[in-house]
Order: sequence, then C-alpha cells, then structure tokens
Amino acid sequence: MALLEVERISCTYGDSSALHDFSFEVVQGEIAALLGPSGGGKTTALRAILGFEPILKGEIRIAGEVMSRPGFNVPPERRPVGMVFQDRALFPHLTVEQNIAIGIRREPKADQDRVVRNLLEIVGLEHCISRFPHELSGGQQERVALARALAPQPRLLLLDEPFASLDIDLRERLSFEVRNILKETGSTAVVVTHYQDEAFAMGDQVGIIEDGTILQWDTPFNIYHRPVSRQVASLVGRGVFIEGVLREAGTFDTEIGRIRDEHHDYPHPPGTRMDILLRPDDVLIDPEGKISATVIEKAFKGDDTLYTLRLPSGTRLLALASSHRDLEVGEEAQLGFDLEHLVAFSRSSGI
Ligand code: ADP
Ligand code: MG
Repeated sequence: MALLEVERISCTYGDSSALHDFSFEVVQGEIAALLGPSGGGKTTALRAILGFEPILKGEIRIAGEVMSRPGFNVPPERRPVGMVFQDRALFPHLTVEQNIAIGIRREPKADQDRVVRNLLEIVGLEHCISRFPHELSGGQQERVALARALAPQPRLLLLDEPFASLDIDLRERLSFEVRNILKETGSTAVVVTHYQDEAFAMGDQVGIIEDGTILQWDTPFNIYHRPVSRQVASLVGRGVFIEGVLREAGTFDTEIGRIRDEHHDYPHPPGTRMDILLRPDDVLIDPEGKISATVIEKAFKGDDTLYTLRLPSGTRLLALASSHRDLEVGEEAQLGFDLEHLVAFSRSSGI
C-alpha cells in the first residue's frame, strides 16, 4: 500500500488556483521527485502535505489515515512528516549536535546522543559535532539539515529544492549522497526541484508538474524516453522535433530517411503527419552515416560535445558526441541515428 496518497487535491491562493486535480502516491521506502518550472505548484504541494495549506477538494492520506480533506486538517505538528527547507534554516547559535537534536529534545539525553551520533555517522560529519553552522560548507550544512529532519524518524520526509543554493558540482554529488542516505535509513521521501538532473538522480519515480497539475508520473527513464505529451517532451531534456509521415505500423518517412519504431504501434491512420522527437543521444556523428549536415554550433561539455547541426532543408538537429572527435563550426558531418526509443506525436491532436 502507498504510504502517501495525494488524491485529486485542489489548493488556491485567493482567486488563483495553485493546484488542481493533483494526484500522486508514494510507496513505503521510495523516493518521489516532483520536477517542474518555478511557479508550478511544487512548494504548495509540500505545504499541503505538511498541513500548512488547506485543500478545497480531494484528500491526503498518510499510512491510510486521512490528514487533509475539505474542511478538515490534521495540524502540522501531529503529522508524521519531516521537512528539509530550501534555505536549510539551521539555528546559527546552536552547534551541529544541538541542531540535529532539536526535534527530539524531549527524549532522554542518552537517546538523543545515540540518535545524533548515528545520524552524524550516516551523513559523514562525526568530526563536525561541535561546530556551528557558519563553520560548515554549504554541502555540510545541507547534510546537517537532513540529519535534523531524520532525527525524529518521520514516516515521510519532504525536501524543498534542497540544493538550490549550491553550485552545480556539489548539487550533483549531494543528490546521489542524499539518495543513498535516504535509502540507507529506509526513508520515504518527496523531493521537489526544478533541476532535471537532480530529479532523475534522486527519484525512483518522477512527477512532471506544470501549472498546478501533474503531466506525467513515471520512472526517470520513461519520462525521458516515453514522454506522454509534447508538453512533457519539451519540459524534459533537450531535443528537436522533425516531421514524418506515418506509413504502416510504426514506420515513418522523414528527411533523414525511413525510420521505424520497433517498440510500439501508432493508432493513427497511414498518411498522418507526425512530429518525431530526436534527442541529442539519438543522433550520432558517424563517418559511415548517410545523412550530411553542417555544424552550426558546438558546446564543449567536458566528456561530451553538444553539436547543433543543420540539414540541407534547414531543419536543426542536436547531437551529443564524445569530445575525442572534434568538429569545427561550418564543417560537414555525416550522421547516423540510434533510434531505439522513438517518440512521435500527431500534428493535429497536439499531444
Ligand atoms: P513552485 O514551488 O513550483 O515554484 P509554488 O507552489 O510556490 O510553486 O507556487 C504556485 C503558484 O501559487 C504560483 O503561481 C505562485 O505565484 C502562487 N503562490 C505561491 N504562494 C503564494 C502565496 N502565499 N500567496 C499567493 N500566491 C502564492
Ligand atoms: Mg517552490
């Protein structure tokens, strides 16, 4: 059974709707990531689960127990939910040890010590026990905030843009570290972020949010390779659409030749004009390739280079290639395609 059930909830601020018909579930021990642009309703969703935001429709249950429904709200302090806030909100005048113990301060001192030491070991900060927050790096502060939220052993942990103030390298490393810590402690968590890498690194399941609704709830792999709509495809990852005409079962005629989707059939009749999504990792720089294109832009990314290429028709493609082979802007390249996971949307239906 799901530990957290958010069922068709709606929230408003005055006249404006922040969430509508918003549903998802998280199974015990799993991490869900809500990914979406700023203003999409991510923080509002967490506040509703915490009990700070009343809901106008629907229901929120934790471990089968109703927490919120219209006109009924279990107060935040009586919900088995912990929270890691965006700004971490550590108490500057308390040490690391005291910060972590704040939520369990009414328990016997010996129990507090045991919990704090155990958590410090898990987050790798035993040597920082007596320091004050200003004596820690951003990443260390983040781990203290996480340990503090875990100390009361909440059934559910919520993290709101936990790494937003950190630089990109640290963010990436912490996403994996925090995921491992959550898994090690058997936590069930919901993390919200507007960084795709973070959501994909941390979430067992990812929800794509825009304008107060969930557009798709799925594994990171499926979100990327099987977006359910054009909207999801354009919110997640990079890519371009090329035009194709559907022939029989999953075969398309396009300007890069006849391509075939091995994995699924399309219900549309032959002759339907479709937009086919090509991700940068679908397009290969391949001297044996049959399609020529001109390099019009390149962005070196260390391991890889992202090329923008133009086909003779003017259509642009993106290709991610190992940076060992270096092409110059203006050069002709031969392209091959690795179209394992084709995604195509009918032009007329718009989805
Ligand atoms: P996110 O966390 O995804 O950036 P929020 O949940 O903060 O999104 O906001 C969702 C929508 O609700 C936005 O349009 C935002 O402007 C609005 N909103 C958020 N908080 C308030 C508030 N306290 N009063 C009025 N409107 C708000
Ligand atoms: Mg927010």
